[in-house]
Amino acid sequence: MSIRVKLLLSYIVMLILPVFLFLIAILMMGFAFFGDIKNTTRFYNIDLKEPHTITRLIYADDIFFTELKDVAKYAPQKLEDPRFLRGMDRELNKVQSGLIIRQGRQLVYTSPFFRDPAIIHALPPVFQKKVNDEEDEHEHHEIRVHHHWYSYKQYDFFTQDHQVMTIFILRDVSTLTHLARKFFRTIIITLFLALAVTNGLLTYLVSRSILKPLNVLKHATEQIKEENLDFRIVPTSKDELGELSLAFEEMRQKLKESIDLQLQYEENRKELISNISHDLKTPLTAIKGYVEGIRDGVADTPEKIEKYLSIIAKKAEDMDQLIDELFLFSKLDLKKLPFFFEHVEIVKYLDECIEEVKFDLEKHGISIKWARKIAPTIVIADREKLKRVIMNIIGNSVKFMNKTKGEIGFSLIDKPEKVVIQITDNGPGIDPEALPFIFDRFYRIDKSRNSLTGGSGLGLAIAKQIIEEHKGEIWAKSELNKGTTISFTLQKASKRTKGGSFEKDPDH
Ligand code: ADP
Repeated sequence: MSIRVKLLLSYIVMLILPVFLFLIAILMMGFAFFGDIKNTTRFYNIDLKEPHTITRLIYADDIFFTELKDVAKYAPQKLEDPRFLRGMDRELNKVQSGLIIRQGRQLVYTSPFFRDPAIIHALPPVFQKKVNDEEDEHEHHEIRVHHHWYSYKQYDFFTQDHQVMTIFILRDVSTLTHLARKFFRTIIITLFLALAVTNGLLTYLVSRSILKPLNVLKHATEQIKEENLDFRIVPTSKDELGELSLAFEEMRQKLKESIDLQLQYEENRKELISNISHDLKTPLTAIKGYVEGIRDGVADTPEKIEKYLSIIAKKAEDMDQLIDELFLFSKLDLKKLPFFFEHVEIVKYLDECIEEVKFDLEKHGISIKWARKIAPTIVIADREKLKRVIMNIIGNSVKFMNKTKGEIGFSLIDKPEKVVIQITDNGPGIDPEALPFIFDRFYRIDKSRNSLTGGSGLGLAIAKQIIEEHKGEIWAKSELNKGTTISFTLQKASKRTKGGSFEKDPDH
């Protein structure tokens, strides 16, 4: 239930409940005054079995008055029948009223309740208005006798022998006045109490349903302030505050993700600095060692000195290469390296690449297989950077090759909007546990072996950066002792034409 509906309902209840409570209080006061429920209901003229008691309460003696008037008009002789009058009077007594009939100045019938001559004396003579006037029939009048108030109804009419006859229905209302006076303060207090209880109860219930979730949110804010994000906010309701709690929980999750990412970045940065320092320190230590060796005369023959110097030169070259790679990687990472994308016919491009490395690979005893399965295809690529990717991948295959008859295979797969280039070798393969990390920077499976092969652990990370800049993907599949396949995608530049050939690229 929404807070709006809750408030609306509470206002409605606030109006209805006090009235209800007030009525109960009035009934209870009547009960206290009259002693038992029978008298109370009688006093208020409430017939517990009969409906419309409120109407009866107001018009109780009206019914008898109308009936008596009808008798006066159509059967006036009945008004001289004492049995009829006694019966009528008894009925009237039940509603705290009584009957008096007067003919001229003579009393024809007097209810035992109203035999007091003072009352009879106080009754008006013939009514001031015209006799038989019907307009005033429901009007109540009051007389006061010995501190008692009586309300009465009066009907004057002419009998057949032209005498004025008057019907009075009297009711002693002083009990009610007395009751009202006696309980006036209590009634007012009860009314206020009923209002206060209802308002208090509803305010408590409604505010509890608002304050509870607010407290949860307050607690959550304090937790966040103390940099604790490891909690959950569970909405307790489906109203506006429930929605707010949900939004708050979403915010907490986003904040946690962003802080975790920040921590991850920080961790990566630290790791990067430590890796760079380590990778630069190792060759530098070696260089220093060999220089010391020459200085101290450990290298005492020209051949030894030459050997030491060539090692120093090789280490310096390794460092230079590492710094170059680092520089390239950091520029790619910071997106500061410009890319010159152009339309490249990939089949021809790979032909050229293979031609370029073929001789070198053959020297290492590695043969090349090139499955030119597709028609000439134009892709979008930066020629120079793409060469770097291919060279890094082939470089790894050569570096880690452990077979005497090494093989590197190239294949090109045509997809609707891209091409997939696969470079496979029959080398040692990569441990499945290490496979997901080979594209991470500085990741090297066997550090000692890599230091021999001169790997920086940046080759595949650079390849990944370049391919991602081409809006492509790169991944690896490998089986230990069988070989490794590195695949990557490039976006096609042109659509296929009807004849199955490709639109010629003007640049190409
Ligand atoms: P490195 O400069 O060490 O070659 P790379 O990022 O190019 O760094 O490769 C990461 C690691 O993945 C390598 O150190 C190597 O352990 C493994 N690896 C990459 N390519 C191959 C391959 N073709 N065969 C076996 N292992 C490979």
